[in-house]
Amino acid sequence: MLYASICHTDISRAQGYPFPLFPRVLGHEGVGVVESIGDKVNGLKERDIVMPTFIAQCQECENCTSKETNLCLKFPVNRNGLMPDGTSRMSIKGHKLYQLFTCSTWTEYMVIDSNYVVKIDPTIPLPHASCLSCGFTTGFGAAWKEAKVKEGSSVAVLGLGSVGLGVIEGARMRGAATIIGVDKNGKKREKGQAFGMTHFINPEEFDKPISQLVKDLTSGIGVDYCFECSGAAPLVNEALQATKMGIGKAIVVGAGSETVKI
Ligand SMILES: [Zn+2]
Ligand SMILES: [Zn+2]
Repeated sequence: MLYASICHTDISRAQGYPFPLFPRVLGHEGVGVVESIGDKVNGLKERDIVMPTFIAQCQECENCTSKETNLCLKFPVNRNGLMPDGTSRMSIKGHKLYQLFTCSTWTEYMVIDSNYVVKIDPTIPLPHASCLSCGFTTGFGAAWKEAKVKEGSSVAVLGLGSVGLGVIEGARMRGAATIIGVDKNGKKREKGQAFGMTHFINPEEFDKPISQLVKDLTSGIGVDYCFECSGAAPLVNEALQATKMGIGKAIVVGAGSETVKI
């Protein structure tokens, strides 16, 4: 592994959500270099720069060929902390260590099933590429593929972490005219603007619900698309309330858990 980053899912897994699996090596965002490959591996070679991807694609099953989802039925998201063959390849003093999904990026070396690896362009800035493994891509895909944000539309994004910034980028590339970012961390204003956010709301600075603040910026009717990217359950309601009645879409992206607090 060359670089790794942190996603909130790492935190919730560390806190035993949705079920405890310990001891465990966390991390599912990262960039690495192929050090060696197994006999039956095709399409990869030593020195390739790769990212782990916890959702593989066989490109043959009903889901892979549907063009509606990439939740492959043959290589599903792995929640048991083990390799697809049911083994763990990591241990400490003889004790088994669980992985996170099909990988564990917070380590110097890992063994990973080649179906869960993608080769990337080695010339892109690798420390930043790490966030493409989960967060940024999740948000980008939500705007680009799931919502299919329409040109000239209005968008609100609740939570400007890697996921929310990915939504902003996807919405901007789809031609959204208004992109409202919401985050209680004021430093996110600059980050959101770098990706194309047009308005920023820090809800801590107001004594109104987020949905009302979004409506205040959209002639009182709300946005065409509202993306909930924090995983904080009360914000799902705010996302619904901030969305235009009848024609709007509210999209829940944040992986919810009781560990997410607003
Ligand atoms: Zn993640
Ligand atoms: Zn498949």
